[in-house]
Order: sequence, then C-alpha cells, then structure tokens
Amino acid sequence: MMDALAILKTVFGYPAFRPPQDEIIDHVAGGGDALVLMPTGGGKSLCYQIPAIMRGGSAVVVSPLIALMADQVAALTEAGVRAAVLNSTLDAERARQVEQDFAAGRLDLLYVAPERLVTPRFLDLLGRATPALFAIDEAHCVSQWGHDFRPEYIELAVLHERFPAVPRIALTATADALTRQEIVARLKLDAARIFISSFDRPNIRYTIVPKDGGREQLLRFIEQRHRGAAGIVYCLSRRKVEETAAWLSARGVAALPYHAGLDAATRAAHQQRFVDGEGIVMAATIAFGMGIDKPDVRFVAHLDLPKSIESYYQETGRAGRDGAPADAWMAYGLSDVVQQRRMIDESEADEDFKRVSRAKLEALVGLAETPHCRRVQLLAYFGESSAPCGNCDNCIAPPRVVDATEAAQMALSAVYRTGARFGAGHLIDILRGRTTERVATLGHDRLKTFGVGSDRDERQWRALFRHLVASGILIADAEAYGALRLTTAARAILKGEQSVQMRENTVEATARKRSRRTADESPAAGADAGLLARLRDWRRRTAQAHGVPAYVIFHDATLAEIAARSPADVDGLAGIPGIGAKKLERYGPELLALIGAAGDTVDAPV
Ligand code: ADP
Ligand code: ZN
Repeated sequence: MMDALAILKTVFGYPAFRPPQDEIIDHVAGGGDALVLMPTGGGKSLCYQIPAIMRGGSAVVVSPLIALMADQVAALTEAGVRAAVLNSTLDAERARQVEQDFAAGRLDLLYVAPERLVTPRFLDLLGRATPALFAIDEAHCVSQWGHDFRPEYIELAVLHERFPAVPRIALTATADALTRQEIVARLKLDAARIFISSFDRPNIRYTIVPKDGGREQLLRFIEQRHRGAAGIVYCLSRRKVEETAAWLSARGVAALPYHAGLDAATRAAHQQRFVDGEGIVMAATIAFGMGIDKPDVRFVAHLDLPKSIESYYQETGRAGRDGAPADAWMAYGLSDVVQQRRMIDESEADEDFKRVSRAKLEALVGLAETPHCRRVQLLAYFGESSAPCGNCDNCIAPPRVVDATEAAQMALSAVYRTGARFGAGHLIDILRGRTTERVATLGHDRLKTFGVGSDRDERQWRALFRHLVASGILIADAEAYGALRLTTAARAILKGEQSVQMRENTVEATARKRSRRTADESPAAGADAGLLARLRDWRRRTAQAHGVPAYVIFHDATLAEIAARSPADVDGLAGIPGIGAKKLERYGPELLALIGAAGDTVDAPV
C-alpha cells in the first residue's frame, strides 16, 4: 500500500501536506471517524481522496453540489484516479454502468447526491459493494438553522446504522460551534475526532477604500492587479448590476450581469461562461455565488457594503480557492452605511432582529474604518486571535491616524444648529461656506458654523462624516431621508471631554503607494508573459477538447510556475506543484514543446 505522502506526490503532484491534512488522513485511513472544519480552499478534498486510495474498496462521497461533483470527478480522472458520479444528470444507461463498476470494486471514489444515497435501491447496492469510507461534504447542510439545510442530510445517519465498521469523515467550512454540535448529533459522529483549522485565508489580500467614484476605482483596481482575470463584483441592486456590467464592458473588461431578475436560461449561460471561461468578470447580486466552486476567481469586489462581517467573509471567500494570491476589494462610503441602516429600519423584522442587524452592520463598518490590520479584526470577530498579517491594505501601507476632534466639533455643531434635519451634503456646504440655493433659502449662511471649515475639502468632510456615523456619534435617520442626528456620544465630543481619532483620508496617496508596490508582485510575478499566454491558450484548447473547465487541466498557479521556471526537461516539470505522474505523462511533451525546450518533437497539441 502506498503511503499518504507518496500518493500526494505522485498522484496530485504536491510536495507536502498542509497541516493538519496529514493527521486527518492518518486518522481516517486508519479507520477513525472525523469531523473536519477547514476554510474554503484549505484542502478538504484530499482529506478523503487520499484515504480513499489508501484503503482499497470504494469511498462514497456525498455532496449536494452537482457541478462540484462533476468537477472533482473530472479532476480526479485527469490525475488517473478511478472516480465516477451518480446523480440525476446521468442517463439510465450510464447510471447502470457506474453502479456495476462500483459493485465490482472498480472505483476508488463514487460521488453521490444525498437524495440518491438514501434510496433503498442505493443502500441495497452499498450492501453488495465494499464501501471503504464515507465522506460527507458540506456537512453543515444537516443544520436546520443554516442557509443550506438539506432534509436528506438528516437521513445520512443511516450510513452509520447500516455500516458501523466503515469510517466516516464529515467536512465543512462553516465554523460556528452550534453548527458543529448539530453535525455531531444528527450524523451520530459522537466518536469522531474533530479537526479545526484556522479560518484565515492567507492568500486573500483585504483592501477597503473610501468610495470616490466607485466604478472608476474598480476599473483602476482591475487594470492594475487583475487584467484578464476572473472576478466577481457584488452590487446591491439589480439595476446597478446591469449598469456595472455594461460600463465595464464598454471599457474593455469582459463583464456579464447576474441577478435573480434575469431569466433562468440567461443566468445559466452567464454562469457557464464565468466558470468555463478565462477572465470573465461577473457583476452580480448576492444571488450569485452559492455553490459556485470556481477555484481561480482572482478577486471579489464590493461596490456596495454587505450587511455583516459574516456576509463579507462568505462573499470574499469565493476568491482564491486554489490557494494562489487573490484580492478582496471594497469601496465604501457614507451613503452605503445610510442605505444599509435604512434597509434594516424599514424591514418588517421584529425589534430584536433589527437590533442584532444593526450591531452586525456596525461591526462591518468598524472593519472598514479601522487603521489596524484587517485580518486581525476579521479573525477576532470569529473568535480567533492573530498577529498583523502583512497582506492587507493597512499592513502594506499603514494609514496615519490623525486627531480630528476640532473638525468633528464643527460638524456636530452644524448638525445641532440646523435642527438635525439634513444629510451630509448640505451640512458640508454650510461648513465650507458655499452659498447654494438651499443654504440661502434656509438662511443657513447666517449660522455661526457657516464657512468655519473652508480649509478642508469636500472629500475630507465626507470622510469625517462617514467616520462619525461609523463610530455611532451621528446616526442616519431613515424616516427623515438620511438626516443626521446626534447621539449621546456626541455630547462628550462637543464638550471637549473626548477626542476623535480617525484614519487620514488618503485615497490617492494609498492608491499610488499600493500600485507601485504591487506592480512586481502580481500573481504571475517573474513569469515569461509570452509563455504564460501560450500556456493559457493551450489549456483553453485542451479543456475544450476534454469537455472540462480549464482549471481541471491545470490551476493558474501551476501555469504561472511553469512560465516562471521554464523547465527544460521532464524532471524540471515534475518538480512543479500540481503536476502529478499522470499529467506529466499525458501533457509533459506538449508543455515542453510550448516552452520551446523540446524542439519539434511534438505535433500540434490536442
Ligand atoms: P476545499 O474543499 O477545502 O475548499 P480543496 O480541497 O478544493 O479545498 O483544495 C483547494 C486547493 O488547494 C485545490 O486547488 C487543491 O488542489 C489545493 N491543495 C490542497 N492540498 C494541497 C497541498 N497539500 N499542497 C498544495 N496544494 C493543495
Ligand atoms: Zn493585515
């Protein structure tokens, strides 16, 4: 029997395990039950795929995501592992063939949809075959309180009752303790060892910028960091999704819209192009994302504020599942906070729910305003402590923190003197001494605060108001069209008993600093650009010929590594992560020909 590390190297082409993969694999291959909590992209699949190969017999993998099953099977087949899928997409003929292969022990892994698994027919088939392992992926689907509840998951306890000697491994990226307890109870995993990994996604770089013409900022971000890469741009409304997709397309970014208002066929077509294609940017509402397992999404951008840190983390988590560098980028402004507040206030929910929602929004706004490491704050929210990460905007270009007490007093007094009936725009006009029609009509040019803040520009004032709202010193009144009101916290500031410290508003400065820093740090740093383009083109054609998504052939990181190293021979190729024995044999000659090292020994690929 091959040991785990040998399988990792020869079959999957990776040099080392990411702890605790090795421990989990040992435990499960040795016959133990396990519950694995690991973030998306952490490498859960290998935790059951390698024991499946080690244990002999067939592993049965339960997964609710049809597209994901097909991808996994395609990737395993590419790597030379005997895998198949049984779900509603197969015709009867093919399903029978798979069942026969399974019963005869010709499969290492069989992926099955939960509703199929619990049928008497399939349980009967299981009894005739030799199941060696049960893997229950997306195990949080058993939780009745979660978003992804699947009733059939509850019935999966039958596996333990019928086959008590077969080890089980349940896996999820959902961290909270309640869900964990529910998984253990409902799947009868009391004897399972629990493996909890850090929920950090170290390859994701978090950046949050003050909104200043959001779309243009987004375009600059895409052009500087992710030209030609796949990404998701989340917007709050369907109309904004449409507008953003059209606007980006007109500027040379291949963008498509996705929202629940599009008909099913259009949605499916756009999703397909996003998954299979290279470099499609999807402008989308949060309707897009559930169950999409494209590993090479290079960025997730937010043009509108999500409603909580949980949502933000889940949405940004769709970037970089392949472990290669990826970006979570967000532009936010005062109007975002006001808008989200209004949505909470105007919702039909009860007061308790609204209170919780407001607190969650506040936590997210706090994350956006912090001058400290974003990752430390994110992980702390989920109960993990960590050190500054070196891979977020605040770590890369630490913002200066300035004392804004005096300006804050001016702003608060402008609110007070106008009767707390106006939004930031009008208040800023007063502070800057602009005699607009409205200012004149209302006689606000005669206020004591008129013109006291003319030394600060519009943008600085906006940043200050945003900060005051974010810190709960001002509150946006939903019933009065976002008019700003003073909270009790404002009093101490007006009296000079408390100071206001905030990050310096340095939109342009940090943008400049960052682009200089990262120009040489883009995901394919050091790669031969011409070669990388040839490799991508080859991958696209090969994927098309095999009828699989491009990333099933090779991940971005593998192509980038080939382009960076330009290996001259088979041995050099074999050392590149992601190239196992089977792929080396199948694609080695073509790759070497592309690199130009193997001369004319190979004809046109595919
Ligand atoms: P999850 O299911 O936890 O979201 P996957 O199992 O899909 O994550 O793994 C994410 C990515 O990490 C995949 O591209 C996988 O090939 C890669 N990966 C997993 N384990 C390793 C490892 N030990 N070394 C290198 N890459 C790995
Ligand atoms: Zn950081």
